[in-house]
Amino acid sequence: MSILLKGGIVVSAKKRRQVDVRIDGEKIVEIGTNLKENGSNVEDVSGCFLLPGFIDAHTHLELNNGKGSMSTADNFNTGSKAAVAKGTTTVIDMATPSKGSSLKDCLVSWNQLAQGNSSCDYTYHMSIIEWNSTIKKEIKEIINAGITSFKMYMAYDNLRTTDGEIFEAMSEIGQFHGMLGIHCENGDMVNEMIAKFVEKGNLAPHYHPLTRPDSVEAEAVERYLMIADLAKLPVNIVHLSTKRSLEAVERARIRNQKVYVETCPQYLVLDDHLYDEPNFEGAKYVCSPPLRSFNDQQALWNGVINGQINTISTDHCSFNFEGQKTIGKNDFSKIPNGMPGVETRPELIYTYGVTTGKISLERMIGLLSEDIARQFDLFPQKGIIQVGSDADIVVWDPLTIGVISATTQLQNVDYTPYEGMQTKGSARAVYLRGQKVAENGKVIAENQGAFIFRKISTSH
Ligand SMILES: [Zn+2]
Repeated sequence: MSILLKGGIVVSAKKRRQVDVRIDGEKIVEIGTNLKENGSNVEDVSGCFLLPGFIDAHTHLELNNGKGSMSTADNFNTGSKAAVAKGTTTVIDMATPSKGSSLKDCLVSWNQLAQGNSSCDYTYHMSIIEWNSTIKKEIKEIINAGITSFKMYMAYDNLRTTDGEIFEAMSEIGQFHGMLGIHCENGDMVNEMIAKFVEKGNLAPHYHPLTRPDSVEAEAVERYLMIADLAKLPVNIVHLSTKRSLEAVERARIRNQKVYVETCPQYLVLDDHLYDEPNFEGAKYVCSPPLRSFNDQQALWNGVINGQINTISTDHCSFNFEGQKTIGKNDFSKIPNGMPGVETRPELIYTYGVTTGKISLERMIGLLSEDIARQFDLFPQKGIIQVGSDADIVVWDPLTIGVISATTQLQNVDYTPYEGMQTKGSARAVYLRGQKVAENGKVIAENQGAFIFRKISTSH
């Protein structure tokens, strides 16, 4: 039976209109004013916004970080539930192969993790952690298998490749108009800085950000921009966190380079004073790049407002405080890197961006949904409420208030970096391809997520 959402305000990245929306099966089939019932189940959504399902383009829902085979606290099952309950209907997870294994094998294992186990739709960025002729050949096959984006690393010794290898990978990916995201930090410098602090006996979480200062990121960003300029590939900087990196991006744009920039909520609403929390609690915020200064935070907000920053995703990568983060109790460099966040992004950006007047709701839709869909070949199936698109719809109630807390979150981790923060607005209901899967922050239909096959669009 079809569903008629009546009385809401449909918002896109460009405009808002008071229209009714009819869903039939998995799709949006009709949009207009005062639509007739015509046998549909009517849902009164007056007073609410109808938003396209949010897309999180940067999650590590299930990661084995290689260090003592430590796995993330969340897995696909728990992470996707936390996502969809609060309005995120699609995730692009980082599929990361182990050394020596093929990209195809990695795709198979990520499908095994997600299939029948995900409560939101999903696809992956395929990580390239080594470069050889076999992997070169696989690029095309992976794109043909529906994965049009890749990820490489300039830091983390178990994941990074050389600049030459990055250049070769770019040239190969560029032939097929694929997208490559890079983790920008100078890995050699990070290693040197860590060794320096550890040698001096500076071992508290306080020293984590000092080993990865803004220059470590900005240098890598600049290098990435220059290599991509040579390879003629659009640039996709993930989790950009500093003012100096944004300045490098601006220089590249002035010389007409195509650059996409992602930042994350943690760099917008948290800052580096948190590393000094007592009782080792600074470890909760250990992620890379680290939380930054207030000055960087202001620059990032300006970037969000003026369009220098294109998208906001989370880099969700959850480790428990007890038993996982605490492994680094006597040495900050042993603290597993990463923070949870897939659940809290919509409420945080609505509260700190929209209700403060920094950005419009339309801009938020661009940052959290439509522009992500366009960049990663999901548009117009995802990212917009229009006839023919998937009926991924968030019924957003702007009047609710809430408090973020580890005791009430759905993420399967023993803390949240946003503990005690007050939020305004929340998802009253969430539709995933036409099915109501969440209501008032609770998942009511689990494991309904599907793999989304992507086809290269040449528009980016
Ligand atoms: Zn990441």
